Amino acid sequence: MASVFKGAKKRLDEAARHVPAAEEALEKLTYPEETLSASLFVRMDDGRRASFKAWRCRYDASRGPTKGGIRFSADACMDEVMTLAFWMTFKCAVADLPYGGGKGAVCVDPANLSTKEPERVARAYVKAFARFLHPDRDIPGPDMGTDAMVMGWMADEYEAIVGHHAPAVITGKPVCLGGSPGRTRATALGGVYALDALTSRLAIDPEGARVSVVGFGNAGSHVASLLQRRGHTIVGVSDSSGARYDPAGIDPARVAAHKAEGGKIAELDGSSDAETMSNAALLERPSDILVPAAVAGQIHGGNADRIDTRVILELANGPVDAEADAALDARGVTVIPDIFANSGGVTVSYYEWVQNRTGLRWSDHEVTARLKEAMEREAGRLCGVADASAITLRKAAYVHALQRIVTAIEAHGTKAFFNGGG
Ligand code: NAD
Repeated sequence: MASVFKGAKKRLDEAARHVPAAEEALEKLTYPEETLSASLFVRMDDGRRASFKAWRCRYDASRGPTKGGIRFSADACMDEVMTLAFWMTFKCAVADLPYGGGKGAVCVDPANLSTKEPERVARAYVKAFARFLHPDRDIPGPDMGTDAMVMGWMADEYEAIVGHHAPAVITGKPVCLGGSPGRTRATALGGVYALDALTSRLAIDPEGARVSVVGFGNAGSHVASLLQRRGHTIVGVSDSSGARYDPAGIDPARVAAHKAEGGKIAELDGSSDAETMSNAALLERPSDILVPAAVAGQIHGGNADRIDTRVILELANGPVDAEADAALDARGVTVIPDIFANSGGVTVSYYEWVQNRTGLRWSDHEVTARLKEAMEREAGRLCGVADASAITLRKAAYVHALQRIVTAIEAHGTKAFFNGGG
């Protein structure tokens, strides 16, 4: 099995040392409950039909139906989907949502698709996996390379297949199709609330820090503007074309406008000190808060010693691999771990699912207030676990999640009970 999944499991094994009676859960969590692979056969604009590999994984459903996004990415593979589904299992437990973890992907580069082709890929995905999906079984949402429009097409296709209205089968939809206000910016806003709630543990100026954002997509662009509004200076931004670092500050609104016109970050103008560089180089430029918001594994054993920051807010899934944990900790870099830092997205997806199932519609204000309360509540619990065992926030997040998963697995029936002992 490839190293990304092994790395994810390493953190689980470490957490298990702090959780009594974790052995049955560990055994169950060694492999996903089910993973389905498919080949999507899609008509392209030039008339030919192309095949795209696709997957959906339901990792663990002990705490409820599986929940997790669908990614369109040229680098997608089954190992990555399983790893992301594994992380979703822990993320939903950290956020105390009544869900297990799932994930899906299509191996396709969205940049190589025309404006019409993504809809055919989205509909083909739902046709292939419709028997896997259900509001009480497996509920997708957006991820890298997909957005509200893609979720709308997928919901429409699912409803056409089952023959009735079923908005709760997928979240992150446009608001007019049953999406929740606040979902698009929820991952970033949840991350900012996590930062706020942990401020007293972070050695940074809460209103005047230098921030670098790696990956200026949905999560990255929103976090850049939210943090700028908090008084921080955005000194670095990047996308797949490269990075820009400007100690004088970069205005996220200008970056967004530049990108909306098809511009690349590497071509942004700026002060006389501004520099264009690779994504890897940006990670090593000075910042107080570094926000990885793109792909997994960008911070690893080979560069952890050179990451020049104080706080890493992991909006991406898995941006720091397990080999880098100890080096960052030894250098006093506080990592706010992905399974907590980016849980605002799935939390608001949960609010969307609740609204779809009850027929209620919540205001933007109500969604935001609930998200803030949820992030503050779970940050407090996370700190309690970290302080009680003198462990990092990452380890505490895994311990906290594992405790909840173990409790659910035990409630389904334990060895001790069946042996007459419990
Ligand atoms: P997105 O597709 O909107 O944006 C991704 C951005 O990353 C794009 O700007 C792309 O150019 C850039 N990028 C791609 N490869 C890169 C690289 N090697 N280096 C730097 N930049 C690169 O995706 P998103 O929805 O913002 O998701 C970003 C990350 O956040 C992913 O890891 C995703 O799993 C995670 N996440 C997203 C959500 C959500 O609600 N969207 C929720 C939780 C976690």
